[in-house]
Amino acid sequence: CGIVAYIGHREACPIILKGLRRLEYRGYDSAGVALLNGALNVYKKKGKVNDLEAFIAEKDTHAHIGMGHTRWATHGEPNDSNAHPHYSTSERIAIIHNGIIENYAALKTHLQKQGHVFQSDTDTEVFVNLIEEIQKQNSCSLEEAVRLALHEVVGAYAIVVLSKDDPGQLIAARKGSPLVIGVGKDEFFLASDATPIIEYTNEVVYVNDYEIAVIRDGKLDIRTKEDVQQTPYIQKLEMEL
Ligand code: GLU
Repeated sequence: CGIVAYIGHREACPIILKGLRRLEYRGYDSAGVALLNGALNVYKKKGKVNDLEAFIAEKDTHAHIGMGHTRWATHGEPNDSNAHPHYSTSERIAIIHNGIIENYAALKTHLQKQGHVFQSDTDTEVFVNLIEEIQKQNSCSLEEAVRLALHEVVGAYAIVVLSKDDPGQLIAARKGSPLVIGVGKDEFFLASDATPIIEYTNEVVYVNDYEIAVIRDGKLDIRTKEDVQQTPYIQKLEMEL
C-alpha cells in the first residue's frame, strides 16, 4: 500500500519510518523495512509503524540504503510472514511491492519446480523469486533481471528491489501503481506519493508505467522495459509542509 525508500548519505531507517507514518492515511495492516549495509536485513511486523519501531529498537539499523512498506493485504492474511519486504529464496534479494500480481499462481508453481521455497502466501514473494531465477539463468545484472521479470508478470505494481550483491544500488519499477522519486543533493527518496519526500526536496520525477529506475553512484538512470534510456523529467513541487 505504501512505499518509502532512501539512498544517500543520511541514516536511512529514520527517514523511512517517518515516511511510512506520512503514508499512514492510506491505511495498512502491517509494516516492514529492509536495510542494506553489507548485510541485507529485513524486519517486519503485523500492526502499526509504532509496533515495527518497537520491534527494531534493539536491532542494528545502521544503513544508508533502505526501503520500507506498509501493507494492505490482498493475497494472504495480515501477519508477520506476509508483511513486506520479502526475500528471495537465497535471501540475497529483497522486494517491496504495492499492487497485485495476477498470474502469481502459475509463476509460483513454475518457480517451486525450480527449487524456490516460499515463506509467505503473497503474490509479491513470487516476483522476487522470479527476479532471482532470471538472474541465475541469464547470469545477468540485477537491473536486467528486473527488466526481464517485468515482461512475465501480469498485474499492477510499484516495486523497489535491493540486493546484497549490489550494495550501492536501489532499483524501482512501476506499472499501474504510483511511484515518485525525490531528487536531492547526492541522495534520492522514493515513495508512493510525494508526502514523505517534500520535507527533503521539491524536485521530483514521476516514474511512468513500464519504467525501471536504477540509482547508484549518486545517479538516476531511467529505462523502459524495452531497455530504452529515458531523460528523467524533473518537476518542481510546490506543496505546503
Ligand atoms: N499484493 C501484495 C500483498 O498482498 C501487496 C499489497 C499492497 O499493495 O500493500 O502482499
